[in-house]
Amino acid sequence: MDIVSRLQQKKPLLSFEVFPPKTPIGEENLFHELSVMVSFKPDFISVTYGAGGSTRAKTLEIATRIKSTFSIEPLIHFTCVGQSRDDIASYLNHVQSLGFNNILALRGDPPAGQHHFTPHPEGFKYASELVEFIRNMDHFTIGVAGYPEGHIEAPDLDTDIKNLKKKVDAGADFIITQLFFNNDRFYTFMEKTAKAGISIPIIPGIMPLTNMVQFQKVTAMCNPDMPVPLLQELERCTLPDDICKVGIEFTINQCKELQSYGVPGFHFYPLNKSAAVKSILDEFWHG
Ligand code: FAD
Repeated sequence: MDIVSRLQQKKPLLSFEVFPPKTPIGEENLFHELSVMVSFKPDFISVTYGAGGSTRAKTLEIATRIKSTFSIEPLIHFTCVGQSRDDIASYLNHVQSLGFNNILALRGDPPAGQHHFTPHPEGFKYASELVEFIRNMDHFTIGVAGYPEGHIEAPDLDTDIKNLKKKVDAGADFIITQLFFNNDRFYTFMEKTAKAGISIPIIPGIMPLTNMVQFQKVTAMCNPDMPVPLLQELERCTLPDDICKVGIEFTINQCKELQSYGVPGFHFYPLNKSAAVKSILDEFWHG
């Protein structure tokens, strides 16, 4: 079933995001972890596209293996970094020839060391242009990224939501959000997107915190607002295991609250590991 039809059902949707491992051992580990995750019957598994296209082929290899091993539909992430329209068309034709029809259409980040995104001279400046291009191919279901706390380059949330609306108007079918920890930020985002006329499903992106290094990486990536009680609990942790316990407990409560709010589902960022999401889903997910 395609993701749009699935979202039209009342039942909440579940998905996991994975990234292509760099080594064969990493890949075997990933499929072991996925065998645990699939026991929760996810509706799709999304596979990231490495910065600057670094995992171009591997993204599709992993997606192919997911589909053949678990019979679960992959969502293929794709960015337009460093590519002309012709390059993009030929890659997407290849994606289509492999039998995939779900794309997460992204602009992508500037390459490491650069502060501004420079589009390919014959490519796209914004994800909205990529969405319009893919929509015209008339084959794919299209997801796009949304930012409950505003994209890092946007001057403010209202401006970012105006730009999100451009992706919707260009033909996006659903939105997956950046991770966040403060549900109030998400609720404000939902109110503002509704006011802006965005009515396609918005799936919250959820990342359980499991260790300090991950916490620091997440802060450096998007600096999410951290609820004070969570920060206080993290400060009290003395052992690595304590951080994981706090992170899992927090995410269970976060998801239960979002479920009561009425989100259409959950997109988890498990960082290729199943233990934390298993503990969380065991507590609140009934499919
Ligand atoms: P856009 O929607 O184009 O927005 C980029 C910026 O431009 C925003 O500040 C926006 O407000 C602004 N903007 C947009 N349109 C206009 C306009 N018309 N005029 C003026 N300003 C405008 N990155 C990867 O490399 N690989 C991945 O697999 C990947 N997966 C992701 C999955 C999710 C769910 C999310 C949330 C992000 C993911 N990213 C990934 C990161 C993403 O590529 C970056 O956040 C990137 O900086 C922005 O991509 P975008 O598609 O949101 O861009």
